[in-house]
Amino acid sequence: MNASVNDPRAPKTVDAVVVGAGFGGMYMLHNLRKHGFTAQVFEAGSDVGGTWYWNRYPGARVDIESMQYSYSFSEELDQEWEWSEKYAPQPEIMEYARHVADRFDLRKGIQFNTRVTKAHFDEKAKRWTVETDQGDKISAQFCIMAVGCLSAANKPPFAGMEDFQGPIYHTGEWPHEGVDFTGKRVAVIGTGSSGIQSIPLIAQEADQLYVFQRTPNYTVPAWNSPVDPEWEAEVKADYPAMRAKARARPTGFYFDFNTTPALQASEEERRKTYEEYWERGGLPFLGAFGDLLFNKEANDTIAEFAREKIRAVVNDKATADLLCPENIFGCKRLCVDTGYFETFNRPNVKLVDISKTGVERITQKGVVGNGEEFAVDAIVCATGFAAMTGSFDKIDIQGRDGLSLKTAWEAGPRTYLGLATVGFPNFFMITGPGSPSVLAQMIQSIEQHADWIVDCMAHMRDVDAETLEPTLEAQDAWVDHVNEVSKISLRSTCSSWYVGANIPGRPRVFMPYIGGFPIYVQKCNEVQTNGYEGFVIEGGEARNAEPTVRETERWRVPLDVDVISPAMLASGQVPLV
Ligand code: FAD
Ligand code: NAP
Repeated sequence: MNASVNDPRAPKTVDAVVVGAGFGGMYMLHNLRKHGFTAQVFEAGSDVGGTWYWNRYPGARVDIESMQYSYSFSEELDQEWEWSEKYAPQPEIMEYARHVADRFDLRKGIQFNTRVTKAHFDEKAKRWTVETDQGDKISAQFCIMAVGCLSAANKPPFAGMEDFQGPIYHTGEWPHEGVDFTGKRVAVIGTGSSGIQSIPLIAQEADQLYVFQRTPNYTVPAWNSPVDPEWEAEVKADYPAMRAKARARPTGFYFDFNTTPALQASEEERRKTYEEYWERGGLPFLGAFGDLLFNKEANDTIAEFAREKIRAVVNDKATADLLCPENIFGCKRLCVDTGYFETFNRPNVKLVDISKTGVERITQKGVVGNGEEFAVDAIVCATGFAAMTGSFDKIDIQGRDGLSLKTAWEAGPRTYLGLATVGFPNFFMITGPGSPSVLAQMIQSIEQHADWIVDCMAHMRDVDAETLEPTLEAQDAWVDHVNEVSKISLRSTCSSWYVGANIPGRPRVFMPYIGGFPIYVQKCNEVQTNGYEGFVIEGGEARNAEPTVRETERWRVPLDVDVISPAMLASGQVPLV
């Protein structure tokens, strides 16, 4: 292994290059150092935080309770950090990321304002050469992608965009100095989570707001509030217990849920339960019954309840009708809002239905949709991301025999466990496609991956191995399993970014693993215990021998009743949000 040291300028050789300094890259760096590996992180932004660095639009906040959406690797960190709100806003999450960077002295391992452009595997040297837009060229045994699942903004090329005389913003690349919409006429295009969070706040500031909606979305009120000090004290009295409970859930975060099938309840009982879960708010609303994402008839009942809530809030009947989704509830990522539907009762807000026409064009003065031109001073694209693979696509990645990752993934990403891919030795992904990633609390997903990766690297060092790469057989079997499991859920049936359908021309493949976080973790543990089963390890001796378990020890929670078994999954008794 290489012994060169980090310095503020990238060194020429390291054990590992890490691409990205969001929560994934930050924790990976911490782990690598802890186990004596030299590492260099490159980050395109000027600070840590990833998602929370880029998405500074008004109203950006987490949709999983902050007491859970946070790192779990340090008990001290858990104890000392205080969240102000149940769902922390973006500035506070950024503050947390900065705090972690300083507390664990991460900054000096990260080169900011630097985009990785190229990563090529050199067969002879068995090393990666990584290049950046700042002229760095660095050699590393391992290349670790922590580029994020939702980090490549989707900017649809609307006709006439270049003619528009005002500014055009994307929620995922929001100006750091903020935007003042006071006195302005504004168009927001897109009604996914980013649109739904920002629209109520933009409406409060702007003179006039036009919301261009292609597809209406379901959203549940967050009922956000300051963190209840009693609840905080209770969690902090035994934080590891809360973390363990979270890890035992398919979603990687803890909430009360009901496994009874919706159709077993009488209509009256169902309504009562929905009301109760609605009052809790947020993503756990989907935990009202066990079969909501598996049985269309059951789903129809929650969808109708949600539509009734919209009609009860929105005064104008025609607008309410347009806001009511007809598709499967929770099929796309469920949104969590504060005052979204109420916003359409404001006199300065107009919903523009572009379901039939799309955005027809952008003119000098505004946006044309549904046959009408709407004059505006600014446009906000809340049009989402090239999810899961978008940031990989932007880098020229070449593995063995000059194989490019783009070619290898032309028909959709293929990975073993979302951690590695055939033809790309010593190449790891944090929350890669084929892992639970966006279907779980993502910081849990990140930590579990970074722990598994560092244990794998340490094992390779133990046995003096040079390269590790999945076998085609293991990868094919995993991809088949990911596809198979996805069919159990209604989620595979609609056109969402989970399947790449939000961007024309992308292959339609269900990218995240929907089998649940605990089952996935168990599989990763087994692969490790069985000497990295499904991987070929070259060089060294006793290559696939039983490895020492280091960081992954904490993920070896026994399966208990809280954990969802494959049988439960197959019977459709699992609430997955
Ligand atoms: P990111 O945070 O995306 O970080 C990746 C980093 O890699 C970025 O900083 C990027 O600049 C950098 N990068 C990419 N390519 C390159 C390159 N070529 N060279 C150098 N640097 C590069 N998840 C939840 O679990 N709960 C939530 O409530 C939640 N809310 C979200 C809200 C928004 C608005 C978005 C967009 C996502 C949300 N997510 C949420 C998902 C969120 O992305 C993850 O929770 C988590 O922050 C991902 O961390 P990461 O480090 O894996 O990726
Ligand atoms: P998104 O869910 O993909 O929503 C994009 C919106 O833009 C959709 O309404 C889409 O319409 C519309 N759109 C896309 N292309 C369009 C086009 N060419 N013309 C017109 N409309 C177009 O993106 P997002 O809202 O940024 O959210 C992405 C994910 O990030 C979320 O699902 C979530 O995982 C995460 N996120 C979480 C939070 C949170 O609450 N913590 C906040 C923001 C984001 P169609 O539906 O018709 O495609």
